[in-house]
Amino acid sequence: MSHLDDLFASNVFNDSVMQQRLPKDTYRTLKKTIDEGRHLDPQIANVVAHAMKEWAIDKGVTHYTHWFQPLTGITAEKHDAFITPTDNGRMIQSFSGSELVRGEPDASSFPSGGLRSTFEARGYTAWDPTSYAFIKDGVLCIPTAFCSYGGEALDQKTPLLRSMEALSRQAVRVLKLFGRDATRVLPTVGPEQEYFLIDRALYEQRKDLIFTGRTLFGAKPPKGQELDDHYFGTIRPRVQAFMRDLNEELWKLGIYAKTEHNECAPGQHEMAPVFTISNISCDHNQLTMEYMKRVAERHGLVCLLAEKPFAGVNGSGKHNNWSMITNTGYNLLNPGNSPHDSAQFLLFLVAVIRAVDDFQDLLRISVASAGNDHRLGGDEAPPAIISIFLGDELTEILDSLERGTAYTGHGVQELAVGVHVLPHFPRDNTDRDRTSPFAFTGNKFEFRSLGASASISECNVMINTAVAESLRVYADELEGAADFQSALHTLIVREIKAHKRIIFNGNGYAGSWIEEARQRGLLNLPSTVDALPHLLAEKNLRLFAEHKIFSSTEVHSRYEIALETYIKAIHIDAETALSMAKREILPAVMRFTGEVASTAAAVKQYSPALNTIPEEKLLTALTEHTCALSEAITTLENALLNRLKGEDLLTQAKYLQSVVLPDMAELRRIADELETMVDKHLWPFPTYADLLFTV
Ligand code: ADP
Ligand code: MG
Repeated sequence: MSHLDDLFASNVFNDSVMQQRLPKDTYRTLKKTIDEGRHLDPQIANVVAHAMKEWAIDKGVTHYTHWFQPLTGITAEKHDAFITPTDNGRMIQSFSGSELVRGEPDASSFPSGGLRSTFEARGYTAWDPTSYAFIKDGVLCIPTAFCSYGGEALDQKTPLLRSMEALSRQAVRVLKLFGRDATRVLPTVGPEQEYFLIDRALYEQRKDLIFTGRTLFGAKPPKGQELDDHYFGTIRPRVQAFMRDLNEELWKLGIYAKTEHNECAPGQHEMAPVFTISNISCDHNQLTMEYMKRVAERHGLVCLLAEKPFAGVNGSGKHNNWSMITNTGYNLLNPGNSPHDSAQFLLFLVAVIRAVDDFQDLLRISVASAGNDHRLGGDEAPPAIISIFLGDELTEILDSLERGTAYTGHGVQELAVGVHVLPHFPRDNTDRDRTSPFAFTGNKFEFRSLGASASISECNVMINTAVAESLRVYADELEGAADFQSALHTLIVREIKAHKRIIFNGNGYAGSWIEEARQRGLLNLPSTVDALPHLLAEKNLRLFAEHKIFSSTEVHSRYEIALETYIKAIHIDAETALSMAKREILPAVMRFTGEVASTAAAVKQYSPALNTIPEEKLLTALTEHTCALSEAITTLENALLNRLKGEDLLTQAKYLQSVVLPDMAELRRIADELETMVDKHLWPFPTYADLLFTV
């Protein structure tokens, strides 16, 4: 056995461990429960819990926890020891089926958007048996969903599981029409994760990094990413050691960490795992982000996951590669090689096209955050306008279907759904520029607008549900059709006509795209506050209710939480910027001004004939900038004082966006100019050059 064989999934209670440790019939029942997404029988739960505990104890584990994903964006855990006291003053180690299946954390401090008032503070957690239990730091972690007592979702996982159900239900209906015997369809996801690594000692000298995870000040360094010498460049030994360590930690948890490379910006890197089923991929991505931070610490580094840690160099995102697979192992976005496969592919393809067109707003909302606002549309990430890239070849195929004319691109003379095989279309190279938010890349779609720190759950809820809705409409229509083949053809052509406006293969960074998108009637929601109100649109509430993803109450609570999170993030940014400006930057500038003034006075005293023009020029610039800095501080302070407390959340958020953010930007502009004038030994914190080029 190789090192990797030994290591991989060694901390996971996975299928092979279950097979080894569970009685045969228990294993079979559990497996059936998992495969069919059913509820777990309490008797089975007891047997599973016992085996899980024994396995964990063998590995030195003393505690267990229900591991869940509240709406804070990160994960939560509360550890309980396996200890149960006995009469003789000793204890036994126990773990029951009910403890495995259900937990009752006092969860009053998690965001609930008014769903759970503090006097009924308890929520409950329920095991998601499709995601394996694992050991983290000597604690047995049981992946769970987190709900209120009324059954309302308080987490990221519950709606994700619901949306997977909805997608499966509708996709199976459609597959039946094609004579397929799949009984479940599962969305697959492979998230590519970008991040920055910086030196820990330097990080600790910057309050902005400590409090907000990003820099709020910092002049452009003499060198940035203009030479493109970092992307795919040789990985430095210190980073390589970090990556090796990270991979090992992730492999132990059964995470398929696969690809690693340097990204565009100095100090920026990426890790991509092999795709897996969406809820597991989401759990794994949360663990990946957690371990990136912890492993960095071991190497004297800090991992930054903020969307835009440094102005002027690329920020970090996450690409959510998405497809659907049947329980018989067939990728539904694989174009296939028989006429029948091609027809089925086209139907699933137009289902996605319709979904993205009808629910542009939901996709946009699913990636909206204060952090990602600094990145989307900034010529480094897709624009805020949602569109689909299909590549020229596939677009031509759809065009010719729509026109009913022959497609002569690659060997096929004419094209009729269900009669012809689609020509082979290679992944289009024009997609390399990566400007499209939602790109078809051969046998999957890649949603590229996510921010690096976000949970991938929300965007997958939106994609799964929107596609489920397309498929529901198609199944309703086609199930009643007298002639399936011709109804299918008519439907596909109609859908192409109705939704082709969302297809855009051009340069998404170009200014002209904004105008063109407007003419096409596409939504352009540049910021979080522009996007969020669309969550409450009637069509969206109807979608969520139809597929049992969210009740109207749940949607409203999520809307409130999103606004609150945005407001808090901007407040913390502004307070941090103010504190740094007042207590670090201004004193440093004044000290330096004093030094220059003393120098000038000393020179003049030494000999009045000597020239002090350089000192005077510098003093003029310094004092002018000091005045401007002091004014900008007062302006920002007043803006924060006058922050419309008592107004509704949206009004507050809009105020922060339209008043406080520009005030912060102005403060920063002046401070950054001062950074270029002041003696570097007096500047109170490490500069961009220090942070970006020292690891
Ligand atoms: P890149 O986008 O960097 O060129 P790839 O397209 O090869 O890289 O893969 C990126 C990610 O897409 C990987 O995580 C990979 O596992 C994932 N992926 C590949 N096929 C699928 C699929 N059918 N469903 C979901 N994700 C997939
Ligand atoms: Mg990619």
